[in-house]
Amino acid sequence: MGLFKKSNQTEESQITIVEELSNKISQSGMPSHVKDVAMKELELLSKMNPSTAEYTITLTYIEYLVSLPWNIKTSDNLNLERAERILNERHYGLNDVKNRILEHLAVKILSSNRNSRILIVDDEDITRKNLEHVLKKENYEVVAAKNGKEAFEILDKQEFEIVLTDIKMEGLNGFAVLEKVKAKYPSTKVIMITAYAAVDSAVEAIKRGAFHYIAKPFKIEEVKLAINKAVEDRLSSISTKGSILCFAGPPGTGKTSIGKSIADALGRKFARISLGGIKDEAEIRGHRRTYAGAKPGRIIEEIRRAGVANPVLMLDEIDKICQDFKGDPASALLEALDPEQNYAFIDHYLDVPFDLSGVMFIVTANIPDNIQHALLDRMEVIEFSGYTEEEKKNIALKHLIPKQITEQGLTEFPPEFSEETILKIIQEYTREAGIRNLERMIATICRKIATEVVRENKPKNSIKVTPEVVEKYLGPRRYFFEVTDAKNRVGVVTGLVWTETGGDIIFIEAAKMRGKRELILTGSLGNIMKESAQAALSYVRSNSSLFGISEEAFDAFDIHIHIPQGAILKDGPSAGATIAMALISLFTNRPARRDVAVTGELTLSGRILPVGGIKEKILAAKRAGVKTVIVPYRNKVDIENLPDDFKKGVEIIFIEKIEDVIDTILV
Ligand code: ADP
Repeated sequence: MGLFKKSNQTEESQITIVEELSNKISQSGMPSHVKDVAMKELELLSKMNPSTAEYTITLTYIEYLVSLPWNIKTSDNLNLERAERILNERHYGLNDVKNRILEHLAVKILSSNRNSRILIVDDEDITRKNLEHVLKKENYEVVAAKNGKEAFEILDKQEFEIVLTDIKMEGLNGFAVLEKVKAKYPSTKVIMITAYAAVDSAVEAIKRGAFHYIAKPFKIEEVKLAINKAVEDRLSSISTKGSILCFAGPPGTGKTSIGKSIADALGRKFARISLGGIKDEAEIRGHRRTYAGAKPGRIIEEIRRAGVANPVLMLDEIDKICQDFKGDPASALLEALDPEQNYAFIDHYLDVPFDLSGVMFIVTANIPDNIQHALLDRMEVIEFSGYTEEEKKNIALKHLIPKQITEQGLTEFPPEFSEETILKIIQEYTREAGIRNLERMIATICRKIATEVVRENKPKNSIKVTPEVVEKYLGPRRYFFEVTDAKNRVGVVTGLVWTETGGDIIFIEAAKMRGKRELILTGSLGNIMKESAQAALSYVRSNSSLFGISEEAFDAFDIHIHIPQGAILKDGPSAGATIAMALISLFTNRPARRDVAVTGELTLSGRILPVGGIKEKILAAKRAGVKTVIVPYRNKVDIENLPDDFKKGVEIIFIEKIEDVIDTILV
């Protein structure tokens, strides 16, 4: 008896679950073709035994579907002055970046201010004339076509924001019109009008990219509502049309925080996905439900978490996705980013299209050259470079310190940081292109001061953070000027490299010992760097007389070239000139000046070819205390394009041949 009662109860709760889900489905705002799928799944669920695994899988799926923000969107705040104010208030400098972003918004604002144009296609005179009359009164620009053929002719000449077409027409029908519009103007929204009984074909229309369908006979209010929605939808997708913004530069240069400010300026939610750690395509596009432990992909999941269908979605480290991947994550991303396809993005877990056209994608990368070409083609790359010391100091004073004072609860007793203190932290406790560690150091100091304030009760005087107390809070100095603090040595020349984290200096060491003319290369050098070492040696040997080295000098020796920090893989051709100088220093026995850094690719004939990352390299040289930087003549344009404060404090010499600078480098 007891058993019977229990199963009766389960049945009841089972019915409640199904009813509740059915309500949620109708209220979820999902498009009707998705609703149909959800209802079918619900029907299956109602017949399943709740103790089976299948039941749980289906239940989880339906619950996931109803939890998505199908038609929830924030409306954009398209105000250029406000956006500019927000960017300026929150971010120091970065003028180029800000201008590019404002231009991007301006385009969006312009296109949104225009009255929407609507094309009506219907072979029924009364309906067509009625619609035309009503919509003109609503201030739309309206053009009407009597049939598909006429619509084609009009579409050839003009773009419309919205097309309202009957499905059933003689000759070219609504599907043909839909196909034509989608091929020619992907962001145009098409609304289909269908006879009452033909819901199946309407569902088909949605699958093929129609925005909405309306069944005849319809109320005019229904049409107005659908058009309003279409206009809004188009507006929020304008920013994704054309180019996607790609912020490229070293870590800690403000890429993420600018992305957040853009979202705030537009009044949108902000979400972020790091692609760096992602291992296979399913993480982007989800697993099929048949797969045990299937999950939706990160894009859909972030949208669910954001609770809106039009967030600003930042995809971090897009340059890190090509390596060791299962499936083809790049093509999944392409689909998500492509405005011609993303109105019907298919996540394998959802298995129904989700409209991503309202999402504003911003991607970030450390080195844009590493982004796959197909992806790069769709992007407008905005470069973020490292900061100069002066900029770092100002950002710390205006932004980082006030922020940390608030975060560490010190607003009542704000410590005062002097400029010298900040410079000391920058020079002795950080070595970076961006300002991540600087922010961390300031946070540490503020936290320790907060602890002191609590221990000693209220301080009587204002708290001053002077250079003298920095060590007390941060421990002994971490970085030294390797360049100015150390001695000049024979066979050791300062070089410059460009990495994902910005520029850096390296010391190239050359040594010789009795042996049989062998060349030993160590320090985790990549193939290109190894080859440029060989070329540098051949160049020096074949031109030894130029440098006052006798030809026999090489005969009885092995040569060893080493670049310290062996744990880091180094590659690229730009150390060629530096290696040659190390060899010349070694064989002429003249020490090389440590405060002179050389970068440049060397050809076998001794010409110096241009190299990449000049801006970051100059910044790195300054950070390390280098006084003179020698760069290829053909990089002169790069240098000329740099703002003056980038060049302040270093002398820059341009060379075409190594011989030109022997006496500058060697003592
Ligand atoms: P990224 O995304 O490039 O690694 P973040 O945006 O995370 O860099 O920036 C790191 C920190 O530095 C954040 O706290 C950010 O607010 C701050 N920051 C970076 N650039 C600026 C700037 N120009 N003005 C003010 N704060 C900045």
